[in-house]
Amino acid sequence: MNTIAVRTTSKTQWIDITAQVHEQVNLSGVKNGLAVVYVPHTTAGITINEHADPAVVQDINEKLSELVPDNGPYSHLEGNSAGHIKASLMGSSQSVIIKDSRLQLGTWQGIFFCELDGPRSRQVYVKVISESDD
Ligand code: ZN
Repeated sequence: MNTIAVRTTSKTQWIDITAQVHEQVNLSGVKNGLAVVYVPHTTAGITINEHADPAVVQDINEKLSELVPDNGPYSHLEGNSAGHIKASLMGSSQSVIIKDSRLQLGTWQGIFFCELDGPRSRQVYVKVISESDD
């Protein structure tokens, strides 16, 4: 398993980490298998969506904040319930198929780290698993 360090600079922020995940696949030498991309955080997420037009993730981020406002009422005393709820909506991992040493993402797809209660120093774990017949 390898770690990608992410330093976020605002409360919510979506960071395209596709190139870093590809780099981990290349370093692993795995030709066919699976890349698991996972965040060990309760107020961050991982999602896959369009990375050709940055307005797409901006729209998602803004709509999420509309659906899940910062101010509750919420019970969690830390004051960051919105971040926790958004993290569960986005999910904490994605798995991407690797074929011929390439992530099998669609033409417009990118892998995004979602900061949902920043700014913070974050980690993304990447585990590259080889097919048994590799
Ligand atoms: Zn909390």
